[in-house]
Amino acid sequence: MFEKLRKKKPKERLSRRFSAVGVALSLILSFDVFSATVEPGEEGPSRFKAMGVVIPSPAPDRMDTEGDGPFDRLVVENVMLVNGLGAPPRGPVSIVISGDTIAQIVSYPPKPVPGEHRVDARGMTALPGFIDAHVHIANPYEGVVGPITPPEYVFKLWLAHGITTVRDTGSVMGLDWTVSHAARAARNEIVAPDIVPFAMFPGTSLAQFEISDEQGARDWVRAVKARGAKGVKLRGGTEEALAAVYDEAQRLGMGTASHHDQNGVYHMNVLDSARLGLDSMEHWYGLPEAMFNDRTIQDYPADYNYSDEQWRFGEAGKLWSQSAQRGTKTWQSTIDELLARDFTLVPTFTIYEANRDVMRERNAEWHEDYTLPALMRFFEPDPRLHGSYHFDWTTGMEVAWRDNFKRWMSFVNDFKNAGGRVATGSDSGFIYKVFGFGYIRELEMLQEAGFHPLEVVQAATRNGAELLGMEGDIGSISPGKRADIVLVEGNPISNFKLLYGTGHMKLNREKGIVERVGGVSYTIKDGVVYDAKALLSDVREMVSEARSGLVP
Ligand SMILES: [Zn+2]
Repeated sequence: MFEKLRKKKPKERLSRRFSAVGVALSLILSFDVFSATVEPGEEGPSRFKAMGVVIPSPAPDRMDTEGDGPFDRLVVENVMLVNGLGAPPRGPVSIVISGDTIAQIVSYPPKPVPGEHRVDARGMTALPGFIDAHVHIANPYEGVVGPITPPEYVFKLWLAHGITTVRDTGSVMGLDWTVSHAARAARNEIVAPDIVPFAMFPGTSLAQFEISDEQGARDWVRAVKARGAKGVKLRGGTEEALAAVYDEAQRLGMGTASHHDQNGVYHMNVLDSARLGLDSMEHWYGLPEAMFNDRTIQDYPADYNYSDEQWRFGEAGKLWSQSAQRGTKTWQSTIDELLARDFTLVPTFTIYEANRDVMRERNAEWHEDYTLPALMRFFEPDPRLHGSYHFDWTTGMEVAWRDNFKRWMSFVNDFKNAGGRVATGSDSGFIYKVFGFGYIRELEMLQEAGFHPLEVVQAATRNGAELLGMEGDIGSISPGKRADIVLVEGNPISNFKLLYGTGHMKLNREKGIVERVGGVSYTIKDGVVYDAKALLSDVREMVSEARSGLVP
């Protein structure tokens, strides 16, 4: 279908409203045909497939030239250590890895053992493999205007930025597609981080598949668990169904993540969900609404339309100012209750950044070499898409969003200071945010929120592992943990910009020239050593091939 759309001349498009009616009609017509056959967890992508959108082929098998190891014995020597738990940097140390497990950390280089493999990491810092707690391996909306970003591109950008585990919040490309990638990644058959698939609950946002009753919700949770889901992502639904999902997921040992869609937040804000057993809130919706003192519903203009995304995000920029102020009783009691419920915030600050400075995001320096042309096209304003809404974004909207960010960041920082768990998620693949790069930007924004850089690393490693219930395996550089390690030149605690694939611009005073320094050197995943620069070079090649293919 996207081929057809692209070939249309502008005047043939008539109006977007007209084509939207067509799409809606075809969805209604296809509903009867598809609803009978759609498996639990496949509801979202089935909508797009019915529109002719093609889900990309699975990532190719890992080649012999991609990644070294695992080794019987691998020694990373002379490296500065940041363990992820909160200890200050120390070193140099040597990290001894046996197969896929960290065996020992010693403060002197151990005696060579015949047959071992060594990496001299002088001048480098070792951090635990990063966990991106909110990802999509691309998304089917892209298929409306062009080819969907292939998984190989996404995976290589993630690994090249030190990301060794991701939580796929919704498996929007299809649960089966995602679970099969997760299985292959766990066996290191593909070049990819480990993937923890969450299935998208068909509540109000998947209206034509909506499950609104208790039994239906419980059956659905059991079905997606049987199909390989480790958790459930929610966006809203009836109280009966949501309560059943939280209860059933908890019973089955599955995680839950909710984006409190504004369509349902009037009856289910963050505190309501937390009381029903929700593990983590995504983004920020539902939090200011839980702290309203002088209203119960967001101050929408009388003629507001949620479906107009610029309007939706523009009004959202005024939402924190309608909520309780910092330091008030409501603010503090909300923090206290979320803390008592062992709740996790996954703010994904980065995905909203264009709202406070759209030019910065549109012109980010990595787009030139690392952003696929179809992905860039998807980011451009288009009312048919999700997240591509900067139609006529004004100075006033950016100013409002800067204030919104300040209030929101202060809540997240206060929650952290009270002992609350904040995990790092990027939601990249929307709104000018490119995989990997968007994640590093989230580290910078957590620091902006008031986190010490070591607290940022905790959020990126230990906290993500706890959220996933995997803290016994990953999330720190400690003996017995899986060998998931990031090696980077220099000290990222003093400057997270060193972690960007494009590196950091720095004046070499002796030579009088500006140089690019940093960029992850190696990402070790399950004891397999990946050359991060080689992964980036693969991505650049994919981008230049796509560019030449698209030029007529
Ligand atoms: Zn998301």
